[in-house]
Amino acid sequence: MKTYDFVAIGGGSAGFNAARVAVSLGLKTAVVDGAKELGGLCILRGCMPSKTLLYMADVLHLARKGATFGLKIPRAGADMRAMHARKRKIIGEFADYRLQALTAGKFDLLRTRARFVDAHTLALSDGTRIRAKHILVGTGSKVSIPPVPGLAEANAWTSDDVLDLDFVPPSVIVLGGGIVACELAQFLRRIGSRVVLVQRSPNILRDHSPAASAVVQQAFVDEGIELFAGTQLQEVARDDRGFSVKFVRNGRVVRRRAAHLFNALGREPATGGLDLAAAGVRTAPNGRIGTNRWQQTNIPHIYAAGDCAGPAEIVHIAIQQGELAARHAAGVKRLKPVDYSLLLNVVFTDPQLATIGRLESDLAAAGVPFLVASYPFNDHGKSILMDANYGYVKVIAEPKRGRILGAEIVGQDAGELIHAFSGPLAMRATVFDLLRAPWYHPTLAEIVTYPLEDLADRIRPA
Ligand SMILES: Cc1cc2nc3c(=O)[nH]c(=O)nc-3n(C[C@H](O)[C@H](O)[C@H](O)COP(=O)(O)OP(=O)(O)OC[C@H]3O[C@@H](n4cnc5c(N)ncnc54)[C@H](O)[C@@H]3O)c2cc1C
Repeated sequence: MKTYDFVAIGGGSAGFNAARVAVSLGLKTAVVDGAKELGGLCILRGCMPSKTLLYMADVLHLARKGATFGLKIPRAGADMRAMHARKRKIIGEFADYRLQALTAGKFDLLRTRARFVDAHTLALSDGTRIRAKHILVGTGSKVSIPPVPGLAEANAWTSDDVLDLDFVPPSVIVLGGGIVACELAQFLRRIGSRVVLVQRSPNILRDHSPAASAVVQQAFVDEGIELFAGTQLQEVARDDRGFSVKFVRNGRVVRRRAAHLFNALGREPATGGLDLAAAGVRTAPNGRIGTNRWQQTNIPHIYAAGDCAGPAEIVHIAIQQGELAARHAAGVKRLKPVDYSLLLNVVFTDPQLATIGRLESDLAAAGVPFLVASYPFNDHGKSILMDANYGYVKVIAEPKRGRILGAEIVGQDAGELIHAFSGPLAMRATVFDLLRAPWYHPTLAEIVTYPLEDLADRIRPA
């Protein structure tokens, strides 16, 4: 039986980066991945295909707004076959690049599925077994199907199907109001579908502040998405004309029909076939694998990272966790755990929504004193000339010394602008440090200086 120092189950963002670091630290390493197509969720069916398509839809939206800028652009429209072909080409190149890295020979790549036999032994679906001193579980997540009557039988689209469309669907009901639901609902609307979005909580993007989600919600309504929030989904049915959905809102039963149904109600850890129990690894009630701050499970030489571990389904977190686990397994000294007080989140709707660090609700709940200041995009020179008027920039700081605690941006290119805060936050910078930095005029980024100046006026040293 072949033995290794470090085996990553899963060659996605968590597993691949863990293996890369493990090898660089001298560990004899293997990656086991049973997917037909290698690359992981981000490259194949997540971040990269979605952002490729969303960008194309943003360009289309701008072209349609040509008259606003005094331009004559006749009949801008989506050529879905061409968009699909462009996306496939780009994603194919990213996947090839990842495949090269996986097969470069620095570690063994075993293209098979793994399951635990015991805490050090894995049975592979090719009939062989391997042993490892350290094992990282990085098996990712899969679409979940909540127990809504009719949903499982309806065989609704998932994000995989929407990302692979080569035609414009006439009408789509989107179930869910999370990031994937919102990004792809707006994409579908912009390419020309009639879109109905049905969401359980009172606001879409419920992990964000009501104020931030209200901005995105308004943009959706302005673009013609029929949006129902605060609903209880009762039933889904399918017939030869399409799908119907029944839900209750404000005590009244509402029904909607569409040619297609998109289940974007969330994802769950993909740990089903692993037989974690054989290794004694415990999972939480939500199926995630519990870990400590070094990504160790309750079995100390077994680590977990990425979507199967949580707490966030975000690529850079999966990478940080995977790398940390590999360093810990290699015995690297003076490690630092992943710092979730720097959590960075981006929603690629238009307007985009981006947050970093600790926000008002979190600080208020924890009883931490803070100051907050915000400034709207519809009063900022660069955004006005771009007709990018939705949203605001909000900065949160500690009241005595002015250390930046967090920021929330909803608006044009918020996903880029939020990075004005990531370095400063990591370096524990203050409002005064940021005001000493140069801000070029006229840029979107200089909008940040308005809330900073407001805060600077109000900060009172102890
Ligand atoms: C539509 C969509 C858009 C997204 N957009 C973004 C975004 O813009 N930004 C962002 O940060 N995040 C985004 N995400 C989330 C992001 O893609 C994930 O958080 C990330 O890819 C998870 O990486 P991972 O390594 O945990 O899992 P994965 O990349 O899914 O890797 C898991 C691997 O494990 C393999 N595997 C599973 N079980 C076994 C087994 N038993 N044996 C062997 N191999 C196995 C699988 O084949 C797979 O290759 C998006 C997700 C979706 C669905």
